[in-house]
Amino acid sequence: MGEFEIIDHYFRGLNGREGVLVGIGDDCAVVDWPGPLAISTDTLVAGVHFPEDADAASIGHRCLAVNLSDLAAMGATPLGFTLALTLPQAEPAWLSGFASGLSRLARRFEMALIGGDTTRGPLTISIHIIGRAPASGSLLRSGGQVGDGVYVSGRLGGALAGLEFVRERGLSATQSEWVRRFLEPEPRVELGQQLAGVASAAIDISDGLLADLNHLVEASGCGASLTLEALPVAAGLTDFYGNAEGLRRAVCGGDEYELCFTVPLAQASSVERVARETGVALTRIGELVPGESIHCQLHGAEWQSGEAGGYEHF
Ligand code: ADP
Ligand code: MG
Repeated sequence: MGEFEIIDHYFRGLNGREGVLVGIGDDCAVVDWPGPLAISTDTLVAGVHFPEDADAASIGHRCLAVNLSDLAAMGATPLGFTLALTLPQAEPAWLSGFASGLSRLARRFEMALIGGDTTRGPLTISIHIIGRAPASGSLLRSGGQVGDGVYVSGRLGGALAGLEFVRERGLSATQSEWVRRFLEPEPRVELGQQLAGVASAAIDISDGLLADLNHLVEASGCGASLTLEALPVAAGLTDFYGNAEGLRRAVCGGDEYELCFTVPLAQASSVERVARETGVALTRIGELVPGESIHCQLHGAEWQSGEAGGYEHF
């Protein structure tokens, strides 16, 4: 199967959307999407970002989901994306699984695949995503103010456990749910859109709550104080790992793709409305404070993760 057959067979079908003047097939795509636009790229490398033998449909879902998560963190609305695919070989079963996972998510968010690149090499998937930034202003990392509440969506720690269980068979229902959280994260796109105009700052949790909140507080020029007994820990995590280790995983585990955001006191009641309308649990876990570091408390005592920062490639 040649490069052009791959494109025609698996990817051309996702071409259509309003404003795509020239899609797949020419030297460039041409789109007429009025701005302001939010644009981001994320690359997934086999063996680094996912196990090489992970299910192809899950890989297709995951590579688009992590990009959608960046749009979500800005409050943007997905429009389209390009796909740079590097494959060791053109294996139809793998390609059709990959395309099905990717297409399902792309269709859900009415996104067009407008172009890309197909090459041979170690399995690497790079997506360049384009969305419409919210009219009320994008959710930046830098908008937080001292006194704002700190919130997270969903429940944390499951994805890290899932990564550890990915290769095992005969998992319990809880363990399978963790694996699904890792392989097929749910990008919080609708939540991000609804938080635009409500939240003062936001970031998606890819490296771990503490590591990502640290980026937010640095950009906002303040510190944060967290009350960890409020933190929503993934179901079954503390039963399996014990209280201390379960909590540590929820605080430090990456690959969650939940949103961490800050909200001024005057807007706190809007958070309940957004939670109701999106059906996503939103929990206040602390507040922004003067200073430049994050302090965690557990039942009144200072709590430390014993870990430095999140995942860094270099
Ligand atoms: P060029 O050589 O001009 O860069 P290519 O031969 O690489 O173009 O690609 C031909 C067309 O197919 C282009 O429109 C390109 O955007 C599209 N394309 C290539 N690979 C992919 C892919 N994996 N997914 C979607 N479109 C792709
Ligand atoms: Mg060309």
